[in-house]
Amino acid sequence: MRKLAFFDENRFSGSINYSFPLSKISWLKVGGPVDILFRPKSLNELSRFLSLMPVEVHVMPIGACSNLLVRDGGLSGVAVKLGRNFSEIEVKDNQVKLGAGNFSSKVAIKLSELGYDLSFLRTIPGTIGGALAMNAGCYGNYIGDYVQSIEGVDRSGKFIHLGKECFQFKYRSSSFPDNFIITSTIVRPKKENKSLIDEKMTKMLSKRKETQPTNTATCGSTFKNPDGKSSLLLEESIELKAWRVIDGAGLRGKKLGKAMVSNKHPNFLINLGGATAQEMESLGEYVRQSVYEKYKISLDWEVIRVGRK
Ligand SMILES: Cc1cc2nc3c(=O)[nH]c(=O)nc-3n(C[C@H](O)[C@H](O)[C@H](O)COP(=O)(O)OP(=O)(O)OC[C@H]3O[C@@H](n4cnc5c(N)ncnc54)[C@H](O)[C@@H]3O)c2cc1C
Repeated sequence: MRKLAFFDENRFSGSINYSFPLSKISWLKVGGPVDILFRPKSLNELSRFLSLMPVEVHVMPIGACSNLLVRDGGLSGVAVKLGRNFSEIEVKDNQVKLGAGNFSSKVAIKLSELGYDLSFLRTIPGTIGGALAMNAGCYGNYIGDYVQSIEGVDRSGKFIHLGKECFQFKYRSSSFPDNFIITSTIVRPKKENKSLIDEKMTKMLSKRKETQPTNTATCGSTFKNPDGKSSLLLEESIELKAWRVIDGAGLRGKKLGKAMVSNKHPNFLINLGGATAQEMESLGEYVRQSVYEKYKISLDWEVIRVGRK
């Protein structure tokens, strides 16, 4: 997309980049350019931008791109990325307002200082907006369980407030439409002693380090854990986990170009450096096919694949 003739970017104080390579900001370090990357300065500006953008232009909110596989051909339309201008953390009556541009890990640390426990967010990369859209969670906790309400902006730029009866959270997903931009949420975390929260966060961080590749280009778990048990697994009492069936299919360490199934955690696909999105996706599809052939289990992608091939 070239610059839109009618669209005067000088009327916005947030940043507007044309043909922005998403590989620069994605955790996987792959992906082609998005036509327009918009980083709004304020809620009003975001609303005005959306109201001016023709309805046929596709708009997608992005956070830290820690769960996105953007294809090599890039993304049509606009990606809206909320940053530090959407990073409020305000406590009132045991409820906390969190701007969607906050990093989840920063929220966990800040709330610990205030005596509130959202410690599980300490080890989850990405932003609060992404965490809400994905219902991010780990070690038995999901962000959706704490949410009281959500605020955001719809595709036409209208401000929307949603009480918790208006949306649903499921395993690694939520019911918000794709182009609804969450700008903040109110959560109700439990009160807890700071030293206990800090202890939990330290334990979770070291568990991650032990079991998962950290400081690596990856999107974390590639596939959702399948439901139930498989009669083809050797021990039926073993809980069905995506990593177990991938490992069972002999795929640990499998490479395709510069894409690889992690040796440390087989549900993590990693970019060894210089992989294309096509290699990452094809390796993922190879994993799905191999697991299906061995166990008759269809793995569902947890990583969201977007864009043109
Ligand atoms: C090493 C590693 C470990 C991980 N471990 C976990 C884990 O334990 N548990 C877990 O749940 N996930 C995990 N993830 C996945 C990922 O970190 C989470 O899904 C995270 O919450 C995504 O946030 P993000 O800001 O990066 O979102 P993005 O990846 O940028 O986007 C993900 C989705 O959220 C939507 N979105 C983003 N911002 C907004 C917004 N403001 N409004 C509306 N929609 C929005 C996007 O449109 C997209 O559909 C891991 C990832 C990595 C790299």
